[in-house]
Amino acid sequence: MGGKNEQAKKRRVVVVGGSIAGLCCAHGLLRSSEWLEVVVFERARSVSSAGAGLGLDSRACDALRDWGLGDALEASSLPLFMEENRVVDSNREDHAVVKDDTFNHRAAHWSDLHHLIHDALPSGIVRFGHEVHSFEELQGADGEPRVRVRVSKGDDAIEEIEADFMVAADGSMSQTREKFVPNEKRRYSGYCAWRGVLEASNESVQEVASTIKSVFPDVGHCLYFEIARNTHAVLYELQKERLNWLWYINQPEPQLQGKSVTVKADEKALKDLHEQAQRTWPPALAKLMESTTNPFINAIFDREPLPQFVWGRVVLVGEAAHPTTPHGLRSTNMSIVDAFVLGNSISKWGCNDIEAALDEYQGERVPITTREVLFSRHLGQLKQGLLSSGTDWLQADQQHKEQLLERNMHSFNPPATN
Ligand SMILES: Cc1cc2nc3c(=O)[nH]c(=O)nc-3n(C[C@H](O)[C@H](O)[C@H](O)COP(=O)(O)OP(=O)(O)OC[C@H]3O[C@@H](n4cnc5c(N)ncnc54)[C@H](O)[C@@H]3O)c2cc1C
Repeated sequence: MGGKNEQAKKRRVVVVGGSIAGLCCAHGLLRSSEWLEVVVFERARSVSSAGAGLGLDSRACDALRDWGLGDALEASSLPLFMEENRVVDSNREDHAVVKDDTFNHRAAHWSDLHHLIHDALPSGIVRFGHEVHSFEELQGADGEPRVRVRVSKGDDAIEEIEADFMVAADGSMSQTREKFVPNEKRRYSGYCAWRGVLEASNESVQEVASTIKSVFPDVGHCLYFEIARNTHAVLYELQKERLNWLWYINQPEPQLQGKSVTVKADEKALKDLHEQAQRTWPPALAKLMESTTNPFINAIFDREPLPQFVWGRVVLVGEAAHPTTPHGLRSTNMSIVDAFVLGNSISKWGCNDIEAALDEYQGERVPITTREVLFSRHLGQLKQGLLSSGTDWLQADQQHKEQLLERNMHSFNPPATN
């Protein structure tokens, strides 16, 4: 095993994708060793202001703190101490069914998180407006394996760069993954999510916000799930008086433009949403949905878990490695933990045994993320009434109700796959 003191020569790693997973890998790798030069190529022109809320678990928060981002994290997120699942009956009345007081997450806006991770990196590491076109593995002049990466900057010029290894953080439609796992299809979940963030500091919506706070008294530190027949919604608060909500609706797979899973809602879709909300949810929640400007629709997909994340000197991380549905609050957490584990493995094995480091990362992350993807899929199907045993949650016994909780992920036994 190579120790840090044995390292002399600088090694280079190219990261493809500068979203959460790619930027966290830059932190994890820079923290792990002084012998690594890290370059991140991101095809977007800048850090995005898109997105909505997400929940960070304690392991992801610890990783962010380890990279020196603790203060920024505290300042831009709220604690989520509790999870509460409620059932809405046919009269639109709410009944608390099961609670977890040991939830221990934090709530953040995706864009705030992306900014804080980006802003803490040394300048020059992230190259926005750079798209990776292709890569190939080859042997360097010294006989060592290398990856040659071709990058375009929006003009016709192609830059070539050689790296000792490449980290593919290029998202759920990863071209890198496609090269190693061709003809693999994503799985449509059977439903789409409407998502919105109400800016509760606006005077015009203060009554809506205060009604929400009286009906959901723990909002601000609780993750609420509202479950109605064959559908469910989510509510929690973000920093700066923002109320974040989601509503999952079973429907045929929508026609999507390009690779994005986000659909902009037109007037008719919005009108239908508001009418359907009034028929389904308690008035306070329906009013919150109606009062939110520019909600958007995400079609929900995942993919079958892969048995490997590493091919030679190329390693998949984040959504490229394990695209998942959002129900276990997994995607961002998995990306952060991938980066943390990869950094630690590189630190442990040193530059003389990159294969061993990548192998260790894969060995640790494949089984855990497989369980997380399949648990998240299961929980979504359970709450959307898509499992063969559709459940009447109000009549169910306590043991049954406990199945709704996020904490079951750790003991979840995935069904056998072929
Ligand atoms: C704009 C945006 C908003 C989001 N909002 C939320 C949210 O509100 N809540 C939530 O839970 N999750 C959100 N997500 C998803 C979530 O953050 C991620 O799915 C998760 O953190 C894993 O991220 P990732 O970095 O693996 O993949 P992604 O976030 O999908 O990022 C992949 C990145 O790779 C880049 N890329 C792809 N191919 C290339 C290439 N060839 N060359 C260079 N760059 C390339 C893409 O431009 C993208 O930035 C959002 C994602 C994005 C991109």
